[in-house]
This record gives sequence, structure tokens and C-alpha cells, in this order.
Amino acid sequence: MNGHILSFEPQEIEAILLQWGEKKYRINQLLDWIYKKYCLSFDDMLNLPITLRERLKESFDFTLPQVDIRLKSKDSSEKYSLKLSDENFIEIVFMSNNKKNTLCISSQVGCARNCQFCATAKIGLIRNLKVEEIVAQLLIAQKFNPENRITNIVFMGMGEPLDNYDNVVKAIRIIQAELGFAFSPRRMTISTCGVVPAINKLADSDIKIKLAVSLNSAISAKRSELMPINQKYSLDELKAALIEFRKKTSYRISFEYIMIKNFNMSDSDVKALIKFAGDISCKINLIKWNNVPGLPWLSPSDEDVEAFTKKLMVISAAITLRQSRGEDIAAACGQLAAQRLPKQEKDNKEK
Ligand code: SF4
Repeated sequence: MNGHILSFEPQEIEAILLQWGEKKYRINQLLDWIYKKYCLSFDDMLNLPITLRERLKESFDFTLPQVDIRLKSKDSSEKYSLKLSDENFIEIVFMSNNKKNTLCISSQVGCARNCQFCATAKIGLIRNLKVEEIVAQLLIAQKFNPENRITNIVFMGMGEPLDNYDNVVKAIRIIQAELGFAFSPRRMTISTCGVVPAINKLADSDIKIKLAVSLNSAISAKRSELMPINQKYSLDELKAALIEFRKKTSYRISFEYIMIKNFNMSDSDVKALIKFAGDISCKINLIKWNNVPGLPWLSPSDEDVEAFTKKLMVISAAITLRQSRGEDIAAACGQLAAQRLPKQEKDNKEK
């Protein structure tokens, strides 16, 4: 057995099949089934000879996570809970908006970063996802939404993608490869809590991808309260890494700022945010906090959100007020894993 078919880059699959003596057009047919037709089984690749299908079955694993729960929000976003082969669960969210169909994918089962607003954090880190488990999320979501071609991918689901650097990078290579899903780097974003050494590594690599940073406060003590990573990598270190990333990749940075009532929306918060982001070529996505069961943070009123947004307008950065999607199905920002929380949290504590 060579391994899982989705763990190989298309050119690696090509090299193996050329060694088998297969013709180039046959290999292209196989790659087409997987990456263009989203086929989930060798048996369904009907234009391949049966002998080749049998050999593929003997040589490559093609087991996929099972869709355990599929929930549709009243705003039409969809959340899938996927059961992995070791019975762990991850979640993905599919959001359709005008001409943009965005898939929010996971990179880990749980997460070690312990951000205080995040339901996934309560599970703790169980394990990194394998390359094939990351790629499979795209395959499965597209298979279930044949009418809506996925146009954008964000690593913003469960887990800190830069803590699973090697597997996430290989998955990105497969998703962007011309013979793979052929996704444009401009339509893919990694969202990080600010793992500075990994941001530097990514900036120095040949990977092309946009970066979003979960900021949530530009006042160090407050950010540390929300996000323990701030005690490890200061705001100054984070800013320096982002300026370098921008220089080396030419991609504009996005900041995610979850607005929390009575916490990060005062005049001093605005002032600190303007000071931090005002001289970076960036976009600021403001997100209204969604109440999450078991977490103490409160959702601001629409008036508070409007006032905060207005005060920020002096900044040259593009500011967007992002609608959090899928609140009713616990698919909105910070909510992933909220419904699984009691079981996975308990299982993890017992380990
Ligand atoms: S917000 Fe992201 S990095 Fe922070 S704990 Fe949740 S999944 Fe991990």
C-alpha cells in the first residue's frame, strides 16, 4: 500500500503510475476524476479499465471521513460534522454569498492555543489532521454542493493551521496544483492566532496564500486575557512578522477583530487598534461576537457596533463589518465544536 491517495501531490501520483507503465492520458483521467469530478471511489471511475481500478484499490487507501451531521442555517450556510477513522470529529462550514462560495476548513482535532472566546479551545489539542483529512474536506463539501462550485477556502475552522504546518502546507500544494484542484492562491486564506515563527517560515517559503490574523485587541494585557499566545509572541513581534510577510509575499494582511461588549470596544481600544494597524497595508474585518454557551463574553448591540466602526474610519485600512454566518447552527466564528463540546472535552480530559 502506497498510502492515502489524497496525501499525494498530483505529480507524485503521476510518477507512481508512470512507473506502473500507465499512459499519460490514463493518469490525467484519474486526476480528473479526483480533482475535477470530485469522485469519492475508484469503483466509480468508469472510464478507467477494471484492472487499473483494482490495482489502484490495492495500492492506495481512499477511505474518507463520514458525514455525521449536516445542518443548514436559515442564512443558508451549512455545517458538516465529519467523523474521522479514529472516531474523532471535525467541523467544516460552507457559506454561499453572491458569487462567492467559501469553505471554512479545519486543520486539527481541537486546538492547543486556548483562545478564551473559542469553543474548539475547550477540547484542547487531540491531534493534527493528516494531509488527506484536510484535502478530503474540500472533496466532500464540493460533492454535497455540486451546484455551487467552491470559490474560496479559509483555514478558519477547528485548530491553529500553523501548528500543523507541514500537513497544511502539503494540502495547500495539492489544492493549488494545476493538475490538482487548481485553486488560485488569491482565493485561499490561512487564519492564525499569531504563531510568529511559523508566519516567518511561511513568508520565506514558496507557498502563496493570504494571511488573516485573529487580533481582537491591540492592547497587550487585553489580548493576553483573550489569547494566551500573546504572552509568547508580543504585539510588536507579531507586527514585525506581518510587515515582513507583506513585503515578501505582496499579499495584504487581514485582521479579524471580534467585537465583545464591555471588553474591546472603548475609545482606548480604538486608539490602540489604529496605532497597531494604521501603518500596515491591511484590511480589518470586524465581527460581532456571537454568544457561545459556557463562555462569559457578551454580544454588543448594533448601536455599539456602529459607533465602534465609525470611530475606526479614520484609518486608511479597508474596514468590513463581516456578518457572522450560521449562528443558529453553531457554525459562526468561535462556535465550531460547541455542540460536540461536552463529549470531546470529557474524552480529552480522560486521556
Ligand atoms: S481561535 Fe483558533 S487558534 Fe484560538 S483556540 Fe480557537 S481554533 Fe485555536
